[in-house]
Amino acid sequence: MSKVLVVLETAGGKLRPHCLPGIAAAKQIADARGIPLHLLVLGADASAAAEIAAAGYGAATVHTIQDPALEPFTAEAWADAIVHATKTVGASVIGGTASSTLRDCLPRAAAVLDAPLCAEVVAVKSGDTFTRPISAGRALLDEKLSGEIVFFTARGSEFEPAAAGAAASVSAIDGVSVDTRGVEVVGIQKTQSSRPALTEADVVVSGGRGMREGPNFKVLEDLTDLLGGALGASRAATDAGMVPADLQVGQTGKIVAPNLYIAVAISGAIQHLAGMKGSKTIVAINKDAEAPIFQVADYGLVAKWEDALPRFVELVQARKS
Ligand SMILES: Cc1cc2nc3c(=O)[nH]c(=O)nc-3n(C[C@H](O)[C@H](O)[C@H](O)COP(=O)(O)OP(=O)(O)OC[C@H]3O[C@@H](n4cnc5c(N)ncnc54)[C@H](O)[C@@H]3O)c2cc1C
Repeated sequence: MSKVLVVLETAGGKLRPHCLPGIAAAKQIADARGIPLHLLVLGADASAAAEIAAAGYGAATVHTIQDPALEPFTAEAWADAIVHATKTVGASVIGGTASSTLRDCLPRAAAVLDAPLCAEVVAVKSGDTFTRPISAGRALLDEKLSGEIVFFTARGSEFEPAAAGAAASVSAIDGVSVDTRGVEVVGIQKTQSSRPALTEADVVVSGGRGMREGPNFKVLEDLTDLLGGALGASRAATDAGMVPADLQVGQTGKIVAPNLYIAVAISGAIQHLAGMKGSKTIVAINKDAEAPIFQVADYGLVAKWEDALPRFVELVQARKS
């Protein structure tokens, strides 16, 4: 019998929370097809995370492939492992949350298997028809995938995290020697931050071109830290070097869906909205009352950030003390 196989990501022996919407999307596909849900954990030592995955989420089996070549992540090694798992498990649908990791390796695995991939799925219409945004989110397309094997990535902001379900068994796929295709990680430069990851934060505070220069982000950082959130930015701000590129939110940056998104001096271009409009509550501060960001904002303040933010920080501080 064919299966739906979800590729999970782990950190420190635990599942990354952003995997859960991908499991929820896969569950909908599995239910529509009437086939079981299986999970896949890859890593040098996948056992601890596999046990966590097996404790819930309603999968039949959690498969593991353990190989030192799978850490640190390279798209080549992961794609090779996913191809092995697809064949061994007998999966007909393979996917997960559209994170930067899975966006990188799943298309490679799909290409190796000559299978179609539907990227950034926002709704599951049936077992083979999925909705995805096109033209930077201006329109939605229902795409029907045909083939014995199909791939998907699901947009994390559009599916509720998978709820707890029945426990699964864990099964190791042995005898796999992962092919790195000659790719070797020679070093990793990690951004040190005590803040939560942008894609996992409950609160995101983002600044745009209107912040004018990097040092002005200090007041946004103060607000971010007071709210226990993550700092984000528009592409105009990252391109101008005000903040690092990995803070970019949007179509070509990170897709976020926090409970609270505060956009400061961001106009609300369609490419930025594509990355944050799934946020539960959106607050916008902009000096231009006509800025498009106000069309998606739940709360808007027409003001210069220089006037509004210090008072905002003060009020939050007062409320917290
Ligand atoms: C293929 C493609 C992909 C893209 N991907 C992304 C993406 O992933 N993410 C993204 O963000 N963009 C992306 N862009 C760029 C996007 O089109 C916009 O150019 C960008 O989002 C604009 O950023 P911004 O809102 O900060 O700047 P602007 O559009 O210049 O807006 C600045 C805003 O600040 C306000 N402002 C100025 N001064 C103040 C002040 N003192 N106080 C308060 N408000 C003030 C202004 O009124 C204005 O609304 C992409 C573009 C393309 C073509």
